[in-house]
Amino acid sequence: MADVQYGHFVAGQAVAGTSGRFGDIFNPSLGEVQAQVAMATAAELDHAVQAAQTAQPAWAALNPQRRARVMFKFKSLLEDNMDEMAKLLSEQHGKVIADSKGDIQRGLEVIEFACGIPHLLKGEYTEGAGPGIDIYSMRQPLGVVAGITPFNFPAMIPMWMFGVAIACGNTFVLKPSEKDPGVPIRLGELFMEAGAPEGVLNVVNGDKEAVDAILVHPDIKAVSFVGSSAIAQYVYATGTASGKRVQAMGGAKNHGIVLPDADMDQTVQDIIGAAYGSAGERCMALSVAVCVGDKTADALIERLLPEIDALRVGIATDPEAHYGPVITAAHREKISGYIQMSVDEGAKLIVDGRGFSLQGYEDGFFIGPSLLDNVTPEMQSYKDEIFGPVLQIMRTQTVEQAMNLASNHQYGNGVAIFTRNGQAAREFAQRVNVGMVGINVPIPVPVAYHSFGGWKRSAFGDVNQHGPEGIRFYTKVKTVTQRWPAGVVTDQSFVIPTMQ
Ligand code: NAD
Repeated sequence: MADVQYGHFVAGQAVAGTSGRFGDIFNPSLGEVQAQVAMATAAELDHAVQAAQTAQPAWAALNPQRRARVMFKFKSLLEDNMDEMAKLLSEQHGKVIADSKGDIQRGLEVIEFACGIPHLLKGEYTEGAGPGIDIYSMRQPLGVVAGITPFNFPAMIPMWMFGVAIACGNTFVLKPSEKDPGVPIRLGELFMEAGAPEGVLNVVNGDKEAVDAILVHPDIKAVSFVGSSAIAQYVYATGTASGKRVQAMGGAKNHGIVLPDADMDQTVQDIIGAAYGSAGERCMALSVAVCVGDKTADALIERLLPEIDALRVGIATDPEAHYGPVITAAHREKISGYIQMSVDEGAKLIVDGRGFSLQGYEDGFFIGPSLLDNVTPEMQSYKDEIFGPVLQIMRTQTVEQAMNLASNHQYGNGVAIFTRNGQAAREFAQRVNVGMVGINVPIPVPVAYHSFGGWKRSAFGDVNQHGPEGIRFYTKVKTVTQRWPAGVVTDQSFVIPTMQ
């Protein structure tokens, strides 16, 4: 057994796991097990739901400004603890410290958005909708809600969810990834320190058993999920079948379309960072560059090569490293398998990152950057998400063909176009069949007060994460039609009321 063991965080207390089942948490830079995490049973999950259920009415009854004060305090605690949390995140995930700070910061920005909850929850009002009749609507919380999150953003994605849900007056059960639960547990502790009553935010660690318990629990009213598409679809189908509101974000294959008139110097910088940053383990990683015209492709590759050569792969705490190891040895094998598959399918391997080894850290889960050219739409390695530091280049003759590649792909999370032509970019943004579009912006993740969500197999359900859509997801609307007695009795009516 490792020295550090993560249990759960329920009703404001650290709770040891009782299932006897544990998962290993690696330090991917060292390739060593550094801690264990307890896997919850359905009974342990239920214990957390009961804590959340007990806390919910009083939390919802607190006026929104007082709920916002907890958010303000939480935000400042996140800032105070940024360095310590970023180190923990890097040690469990493998992303470099600066990127871990970005992960926490993007979550913190959702908390900043949630600080505005008194304004965001205001309903609508119509005076005089009929004779003496006024109508108003209010947004009420759902009750207990749950979030299930992936390994690749252990700070940001939990905060996308619980930041908004809790500010709306719900209480929350978070089931983070079992691969890097340290930061999610810390978020639970800091939220309590910020003044949240016990049971408002609970963290339950686990795997499929805990997820399945969430999906059928009668007291959980809504489930937010982010992870791979097959699991997202399963979560959506199972959760909605048991009557829950579900939003389930899945995998991605994000195309960057390069037009001949693009500012090539800037485009190369943008593509390098977006393709290889965080070892490509981002759902908004730019994993395919589609070049319009062979000249564009040749020019792009020529400029990418020295930049790839200059990439520094290092341990997560190396301040000079551009990216660190991937999450597990198994995931590195999967990425290597996709590189081989691309070659077998006829792609041209220009840079091969397999076999990369970091001196002094030979057991770490490192993989060098890879670049493939002549990738075509029939290839399985193109259809699938690789989720590693691998950039695939495709060539088309027209912008229309390039757009169709992104539009027809099974995933539709993000897409970027690089051009100086405003009209072409505008038309592309209007017509492309993808949820988030960047125009000369390689990673178009919307800011916290807009909403995040892809299309097609990148998201199941209709409502996106955070921003106005987040408020809609975590509340239900009640509409009141009122008339106060004016001393005049109106006739009975057997006809549906209209405004005739
Ligand atoms: P994953 O699907 O393996 O795990 C996500 C969550 O599901 C975890 O909490 C895990 O415990 C749980 N889970 C895993 N297998 C399960 C099963 N069989 N039944 C029930 N629950 C199960 O995803 P991951 O590897 O942690 O994360 C990477 C994936 O997430 C990538 O596909 C990436 O694109 C995607 N992602 C998507 C977004 C988005 O917003 N669209 C954001 C980040 C990551």
